[in-house]
Amino acid sequence: MSIAPQETEKLEAVAHTPQSAPHGSGAAHDDNFHNAPPEKPSAQFHHDADLKTADLRHRELIQSALGKYAVARAGKQAKFQNWQAARQAAAEVKWEAVGHLDSYLREFSQKIEARDYIVEIIKNAGAKRIIKSKTMTGEEIHLNAALEKAGFEVAESDLGEYIVQLREEAPYHFVFPAMHLSRGEISDLFKEKLGTAATDSPEELTMIAREVMREKYIAADVGISGGNFAIAETGMISITENEGNARLTTSLPKIHIAILGIEKVLPKMSDLALFLPMLATAGAGQALTGYNTLIGGPKQPGEIDGPDEFHVVLLNNGRTNLLADPEQRDALSCIRCGACLNVCPIFKNVGGHTYGTTYQGPIGSVITPHLKELQPWKHLSHASSLCGACTETCPVKIDIAHHLLQNRRNAAQQKPVWWEKTAMKAFAWFMNQPKLYRIAVKLAPLAQMFHPLVKGSRVDPLYVWTKGREFPKVKTQTFKDFWAKREKQ
Ligand code: SF4
Repeated sequence: MSIAPQETEKLEAVAHTPQSAPHGSGAAHDDNFHNAPPEKPSAQFHHDADLKTADLRHRELIQSALGKYAVARAGKQAKFQNWQAARQAAAEVKWEAVGHLDSYLREFSQKIEARDYIVEIIKNAGAKRIIKSKTMTGEEIHLNAALEKAGFEVAESDLGEYIVQLREEAPYHFVFPAMHLSRGEISDLFKEKLGTAATDSPEELTMIAREVMREKYIAADVGISGGNFAIAETGMISITENEGNARLTTSLPKIHIAILGIEKVLPKMSDLALFLPMLATAGAGQALTGYNTLIGGPKQPGEIDGPDEFHVVLLNNGRTNLLADPEQRDALSCIRCGACLNVCPIFKNVGGHTYGTTYQGPIGSVITPHLKELQPWKHLSHASSLCGACTETCPVKIDIAHHLLQNRRNAAQQKPVWWEKTAMKAFAWFMNQPKLYRIAVKLAPLAQMFHPLVKGSRVDPLYVWTKGREFPKVKTQTFKDFWAKREKQ
């Protein structure tokens, strides 16, 4: 299967090698946990959300994991002299970078000489085996399937990514890809796929994966990584991780290809002093991640470590649509810490796979309609209670809740839905008829008495609400009556 032309057109590749290779093709696979792209993403979303919200084991697992994250993060936020001032500073640096992306990208790419697509780079090198560390931009362009289709063997080296690769599913969360699985489930998976003994010990499970991975590092011809930041001032990329797998991926194979979204640019090296601890704190409740690596090119004469070739692929894939939108371009400031997912009540209940997108949760709901298309993905902007927890937690101060409202407005303006318009008009008319309203309020308890007769059936006007939950009992006393009575007393 090849990368669809519209995808290859969007791919902007910039490489560090002197020669420029021709544009090539790659393969595509679905970026969600369904086997095929849903015909209608909104129908698929509602179907999966129903299943997941009814799955109490899943909800307990996720909420317990995110509860531990919240405690760890609060502890590490307290280590900043002033977390709110740090958020403001980070927002300003990203706003400056996003606002002048053209010149910073030029500055970054002046250190770089050629453009190409990843598959062609690997083909031209005559490589066979590829080891990958975590790259969500790679997920975005369905890189694994493209490479496998072209005949390459691809192994994920991040433990969470390796687990979901064995399960043949997409990452559940863009920071914690396998957070939906218990130790028992991972042990069963390893037993089935690798023939190892069952264990409940995280250390033993890690050692199993590590043993498999070591051989793959040594055999790999090409290492593919993501990148957390691209420093315009120096033309270097910064990778932050906890397992050391990215460092091995980028230094053992002869060729290293890094793939980054264009929004990863930071103006100066000194900005990392703020962004590295901020990403670790917001992302995983850590003061700093275990490994922080800066890469500025291939191995130099006299050096014993590092690849012979170093390529950087800068991915647009719809990001310039966001850049062109003055109202929403600050969504490009996202550093993919995942904090907004971790605090989102919707994410905690429907889970990551339900979104059916590379980027889940609130920020995924904001950017997916820009990276893909507004109409088929507008339902994601409604998968929010607008509680604002995402906005409050975002370390770079993106007003996510507001962007969700803007997406809703844009979708309604672009393609008005006649029955929604009619329903809102009828509602507005009804709310302006006090007498009628009072009659309806009086009749509501009566209607509720008869509701069990139709509950759960298709003729139930409350079907969507009541098929999975109890409708609260309608009060017989209205607020108006209550207030009048109180005044009398
Ligand atoms: S929007 Fe903010 S909180 Fe959400 S992933 Fe991006 S930086 Fe983190």
